[in-house]
Amino acid sequence: MSRVYNFSAGPAVLPEEVLQEAADEMLDYNGTGMSVMEMSHRSKAFQEIIDTAEADLRELMNIPDNYKVLFLQGGASSQFAMIPMNLMKNGVADYIITGQWAKKAYQEAQKYGKANVIASSEDRMFSYIPDCSDLPVSDDADYVYICENNTIYGTKFKQLPDTKGKTLVADVSSCFLSEPVDVTKYGVIYGGVQKNIGPAGVVIVIIREDLITEDVLAGTPTMFRYKIHADAGSLYNTPPAYGIYICGKVFKWLKKQGGLTAMKKRNEEKAGILYDFLDQSNMFHGTVEAKDRSLMNVPFVTGDKELDAKFIKEAKEAGFENLKGHRSVGGMRASIYNAMPVEGVKALVAFMKKFEEENM
Ligand SMILES: *Cc1c(COP(=O)(O)O)cnc(C)c1O
Repeated sequence: MSRVYNFSAGPAVLPEEVLQEAADEMLDYNGTGMSVMEMSHRSKAFQEIIDTAEADLRELMNIPDNYKVLFLQGGASSQFAMIPMNLMKNGVADYIITGQWAKKAYQEAQKYGKANVIASSEDRMFSYIPDCSDLPVSDDADYVYICENNTIYGTKFKQLPDTKGKTLVADVSSCFLSEPVDVTKYGVIYGGVQKNIGPAGVVIVIIREDLITEDVLAGTPTMFRYKIHADAGSLYNTPPAYGIYICGKVFKWLKKQGGLTAMKKRNEEKAGILYDFLDQSNMFHGTVEAKDRSLMNVPFVTGDKELDAKFIKEAKEAGFENLKGHRSVGGMRASIYNAMPVEGVKALVAFMKKFEEENM
């Protein structure tokens, strides 16, 4: 067996320990004589899996009791509709557009009410986070929406916007559990897990209880109502059971690593190694404003498309996978999520140095 260094933006690298444990339990989970994949979601064994996963996530993120944790399906993209359908009581919401995912969420919300753009960084290819200290927040906005870490462009909000008292809703798909968060600052935190937590198929929604009501947009499908899932403990219908089981293992792994404070320190170290190299390189450079750099997704270019392609090809041959940038940006992107070991980043930088020497 040989494992590569996988820099994919998602689905992405998972901790090897977690994969090994899942492999060991594949045929017989904890004496049940079956795989978690084969298990009734109404069984005692699965109830324990989902309860433990929720408890561990609550502990990791210090989630207050007045927030529900929902394990849903449909990816982060289904939340683009679910959020306005459930939260637009006045039919108005304000969006901050810092990349394609925020833009898609905004476009979807327009189907259900009045969605306003109150800030955007589209003028410079989403290479920065706009100043959000004094935004024209709408008086009747039901919420202010952000995409906290921009997976494609590699920017992150280092400071949350001043929402002037309105509910903050955040897509944290690509920075989930990468550092400590103050949950009380948000009404809704959600993310697809395939970036930083687990296998595709699960989306986790952390939502303040007062936002979960029967009063949703007329015609909202049953499966798109938060209340249905909250009342049923995420077991209204068959949940993505195996995915939840893997997420639970990742939560345990994160606790063992020292929790989110320790992860932040590690993530800063890893990103620092890569950004420090980019800042002094004569060949490679980062593509976003330094103050807004993501710790998770690091896009970079040489400025020469052919050289980029040569780099990606040779990197792949050397065991560095999925370094090709998003099709809309080009160049390269190294996603260095929680499960990417510091050795992987060091090895990548050593490879980049060598490539630079050989090709300058
Ligand atoms: C990947 C991603 C999405 C889309 O996730 P799906 O699960 O494929 O719907 C949305 N937002 C962000 C920030 C992402 O990184």
